[in-house]
Amino acid sequence: MGPPVFRFAPSPNGHLHLGHAYSALLNFQRARETGGRLLLRIEDIDATRCRPEFEAAIYEDLAWLGIEWETPVRRQSEHLADYRAALDKLSALGLVYPAFESRAEIARLVAARQGDGPWPRDPDGAPLYPGDAKSLSASERDRLIASGAPYALRLDMAAACRRADGLAWNELGEGPGGACGVVPARPEAWGDVILARKETPTSYHLSVVVDDALQGVSEIVRGQDLFHATSVHRLLQVLLGLPEPAYRHHRLICDGEGRKLSKSSGSTGLRALRAAGTTPAGIRQQVGLG
Ligand code: GLU
Repeated sequence: MGPPVFRFAPSPNGHLHLGHAYSALLNFQRARETGGRLLLRIEDIDATRCRPEFEAAIYEDLAWLGIEWETPVRRQSEHLADYRAALDKLSALGLVYPAFESRAEIARLVAARQGDGPWPRDPDGAPLYPGDAKSLSASERDRLIASGAPYALRLDMAAACRRADGLAWNELGEGPGGACGVVPARPEAWGDVILARKETPTSYHLSVVVDDALQGVSEIVRGQDLFHATSVHRLLQVLLGLPEPAYRHHRLICDGEGRKLSKSSGSTGLRALRAAGTTPAGIRQQVGLG
């Protein structure tokens, strides 16, 4: 076995803030203390929101913080064929189906069925997809696709879970509520997740799992906001026959009102802090690593 491999995987859809700094610094620190490698991955599959100037700013901000990473950097938009191959594998298992409803249509379907009590929601609070498109006939699917209708490719979660008994992961950090050690995975809480769209052959869940395996990442250090997503990631790893990394979810850095930072939170952005005279040591202190 080689040295442990870590990665920091930002999306270039805004400037990095204190929360990113904490995550990147923890990854760097773990790599240093274990004699491991630190990779940087640019998660830019969402072409509508990602910008080259944000990517350039990521390199500049991380270097300013004193973080060192290996090159070349993997940029997801350059590897769509890898994700398509994984999607094809899941399709060949009969686990993927096209769903044509827009978000508004899903909301309408859910509202119409809410009579018997609240409709189940995923860990991020979105209503679960009601699964209507699963029962479309093959000819109806073909007709809709041929008509040029937009669609999402969804994972048939019930069928997928039947292929992956006793799913769990090794949590080295801490989930919400203090979960650690061997954590049982509950991918069914997410329902039929989207794996790809008509115009994008991948999704966050699919590409993160494919890349972590291709890059040999052995310990995933990331924020607690992705703790529950780990259930889906473990499921995809098992379905695709990929190795199991360890996970270390870390606390989130919040603003003065206790809210999670967002890319638009100007005053906690690394650039704004730097412009106001904060030093890299000051950033470390602010995130509790000083
Ligand atoms: N690209 C994701 C983000 O910026 C992080 C993905 C991950 O660490 O798994 O939130």
